Amino acid sequence: MIIGIDLGTTNSLAAYFTEDGPQIIPNRLGNHMTPSVVSVDGEQVYVGETAKERQILFPDSSASVFKRNMGSQKVYQLDGKRFTAEELSSFVLRSLKEDAEHYLQEPVKEAVISVPAYFNEARRKATKRAGELAGLKVERIISEPTAAAIAYGLYQKKENTKFLVFDLGGGTFDVSILELFHNILEVRAVAGDNYLGGEDFTKVIRDLFLKDTGLSEEELDHRELGLLRKQAEQCKLAFATESSFMMNCQIKGEVKTALITRGRFEKRCEPLLDRIKKPVKKSLSDAKIKISDIDEIVLVGGGTKLRLVRKYVAKLFKKMPNTSVNPDEAVALGAAIQAAMKERREAIKEVILTDVCPFTLGTEVVVERGKDKHEAGYFAPIIERNTTIPASRTEQFRTVYDQQTKLNIHILQGESRFAANNISLGNLEVEVPPNKAGAEVIDITYTYDINSLLEVEVKVVSTGEIKKMIIKNQEVDMTDEEIEARMKELSYLKIHPKDQEENQLLLLRGERLYEENTGEVRLRIEYELREFEKVLNERNEVEIANARKVLKDVLDEIDEEW
Ligand code: ADP
Ligand code: MG
Repeated sequence: MIIGIDLGTTNSLAAYFTEDGPQIIPNRLGNHMTPSVVSVDGEQVYVGETAKERQILFPDSSASVFKRNMGSQKVYQLDGKRFTAEELSSFVLRSLKEDAEHYLQEPVKEAVISVPAYFNEARRKATKRAGELAGLKVERIISEPTAAAIAYGLYQKKENTKFLVFDLGGGTFDVSILELFHNILEVRAVAGDNYLGGEDFTKVIRDLFLKDTGLSEEELDHRELGLLRKQAEQCKLAFATESSFMMNCQIKGEVKTALITRGRFEKRCEPLLDRIKKPVKKSLSDAKIKISDIDEIVLVGGGTKLRLVRKYVAKLFKKMPNTSVNPDEAVALGAAIQAAMKERREAIKEVILTDVCPFTLGTEVVVERGKDKHEAGYFAPIIERNTTIPASRTEQFRTVYDQQTKLNIHILQGESRFAANNISLGNLEVEVPPNKAGAEVIDITYTYDINSLLEVEVKVVSTGEIKKMIIKNQEVDMTDEEIEARMKELSYLKIHPKDQEENQLLLLRGERLYEENTGEVRLRIEYELREFEKVLNERNEVEIANARKVLKDVLDEIDEEW
């Protein structure tokens, strides 16, 4: 069985394909979403909800939002051990794999994993390696918007349909424009804001609380900030049905309260909504289409569940977005369909997926500023961002000075007008016969393929001389042996066993509520936790299950009162 996985920045999900279509695989706690959080305690690794609770209490041995650094060499130090983002991701994947095996009652050896459309080859490869470190074969990676479009069944639509996928996750916002053409689902353009997501809306509430209570962020320690964030999140979710929410937080031994109203929250969110417009416009202009040409708008990501975001989207597009698939689950469900396509399961028509180059590739040029006046350092695009790949483009350039014999081609990636602001990928030099300025011509051809290999070819037109260079993504690649060795190294770290997970989570929740409360409530929590620990020590499964139910009800009740 090949499963589909949405390895999200905030939450991850797994899904599989059944006769009734794709279905989400519940995790060990019975939830659809597993927070992409890892927490280490000695040789024990916690993933998901438990790790998220631990992060509030033990921020130094826990990590989240590491997907941002996928493919980089950044090191996370957790409980004295060092991990890269792909290794932390491998723990999330290992946990999803174990849960899937338990749920499906069969071994799961392969997965289709989704990545953001703008992920370059290095980051896609890192995602693949994360899968391999988790014991999963990953032959296919799918772009998140493509997966979402597939989940909505958009690949079964009529020819020439254009879709806009609007994905507001926890910390990132991505807009993609897709077009279905001759059975090919093509990504026409991608744009986004890497620092805009649902968390920013939570922060608005947090800041309102700080303002109302006269506190400043700097006064609060890690734990207090963690607790406050959690409260702010609860308030945000409550706004789906309530028009106000009483926030209550224990800070420096004192209970601080603030009543937050939805109206005030929505007003304060206006600058965030404004930031949504820019990437939307950019994607439309890159794809060279008008808002009115979009046939369907698809909402993806937890952030799109916010009332004000939906209202804003409807206003912006003058159209109701399609929300027939749960925005949390669309990407994972699409990845599961893609997995079934790979297995060539009946009832599924294979669609071909293409991609775009997410950045502009070009070269450095000298610009003429009047007679005999030249200014160097300008950027000339050759392959523009959002060109469908594979792509090949040729541009002509001329010599600038009389008797010039050499031309240096500086290969660059980026969007700035100035070469110095873009990323340098390499240099290539060619010789030309001495001649008058502008008389010698060279053709520069850039070819960029689906594996993100850039081939640069320079041809001197007068002599026919050709020079070539291939630029690969600079990255530290690992051999199969190295992956296997690292997998062994990591495998001594055990993912916390499923049967104890619920108990652990309850204890952590109890600890958090203990910290949040004072007085009688605190005493009550302390009493209940002790009772529960007593039962745990006796190791009688039936009694543990009963005690768990009792403790859960008590904690739920206290959480409610908050
Ligand atoms: P990612 O793609 O980054 O993993 P998700 O798509 O899971 O993220 O979105 C997570 C974000 O969605 C969080 O900021 C969370 O607060 C927000 N979110 C989830 N459910 C809701 C809801 N019902 N209302 C408002 N925001 C929500
Ligand atoms: Mg997502």
